[in-house]
Amino acid sequence: MQLAELKSWIDPQRAEIEQFIRELVEINTYTANTAGVDHAMDVFSTFATQKGLSVERVNERHRLLKLPGATRRPRILLIAHMDTVFPPDGDFLHYEPLPDGFVRGPGTGDIKGGLVMGLYAMLATRELHADLDVQLIVSADEETGSPTIRDWYTQGHVGADYAIGLEPGFPQGELSATVPLGVVYERRGYGAIHFTVTGKSAHSGTPHLGLSAIEAMAQRIIRIHGLNAPERGISTNVGIMSGGISPNTVAGSAEAVASFRFERLEDGLATQQAIEAIICESYVTNPDLKLSDSATCKLESFLPPMERTPESQKIIEAVLAEAQRLGHPVVPIARGGGSDANFTSAAGTPSICGMGAPTHGIHTTEEMIYLPMLFERIELLTATLYRLYQAQ
Ligand SMILES: [Zn+2]
Repeated sequence: MQLAELKSWIDPQRAEIEQFIRELVEINTYTANTAGVDHAMDVFSTFATQKGLSVERVNERHRLLKLPGATRRPRILLIAHMDTVFPPDGDFLHYEPLPDGFVRGPGTGDIKGGLVMGLYAMLATRELHADLDVQLIVSADEETGSPTIRDWYTQGHVGADYAIGLEPGFPQGELSATVPLGVVYERRGYGAIHFTVTGKSAHSGTPHLGLSAIEAMAQRIIRIHGLNAPERGISTNVGIMSGGISPNTVAGSAEAVASFRFERLEDGLATQQAIEAIICESYVTNPDLKLSDSATCKLESFLPPMERTPESQKIIEAVLAEAQRLGHPVVPIARGGGSDANFTSAAGTPSICGMGAPTHGIHTTEEMIYLPMLFERIELLTATLYRLYQAQ
């Protein structure tokens, strides 16, 4: 098959592609519904095997699809997941075709539409050149931060040269036949640190007998906020704080959560260190009692960024060049929030995201995809993969 024949290869399979998305959407795969997720994984694996792909298990529950015998670099890892955010006892459970090619349903866009797109892009690349090494990882618990596969990603995954996330392509306006879709070149990382400050409580009429944990907390907050550096993509914020027991008491303790965001992994690690150093310092002293405030802290979460690098920019440029050739409106965008592409990026693999289904209302009961554009995007995804091979 030639690249120009891609559309005529995909078009006769539209009904089959839609039917398979429907079948997966009808299986409830709320993350905590592990039986449902595992069942959908089996259905997906059986289908992929019938299509001639090989399927391996990763850390028990996750699945890795490969094209047998394909070894030609660059190796490209497509990233999707099977779980969704919709519980089985909720009221958003079914695949519902709407007029004009729209389909509403749980996980249609995040991410079962994208998952099926990835599968067909693999099949299409095999038609273009049997040796192209495209693989597809399907996580079972992405919606809760991929706790059981995160290490697999960050410790090198399959050693891919590029990674492409199939999270939804975000329409830059109302989802329609002509709206440009965002392709994500950067996701900022995120961290949160919980900390507790200890002073000494006393009656407010005799403050010299105590040491105010709230005053000591205030000193820390001012300094943590002082780490904000928007020009470098770093932001810090103490978004929750509490302390004290009454207006008439010098507060004996206070607690807070500081969060921070960053574009580069090294900035994230440095910001974490800086916040922890601020927290561990003492600021208020009661000389009579020979007492200073103290604090403890705990890192509650840390998500590495999906970094924009010259190498990841090559993927974006391949997408844009093919989008222009095919006449698909696409816009590069930065987004907050994380996906598994954050973890492949942390492993040093150039990564982008948002190459999945055109989606409206992600994570809400209005979640829907637009099928005509989804079929076109399989063509765009495949053409992008092929272009990355040609550029090697
Ligand atoms: Zn997702």
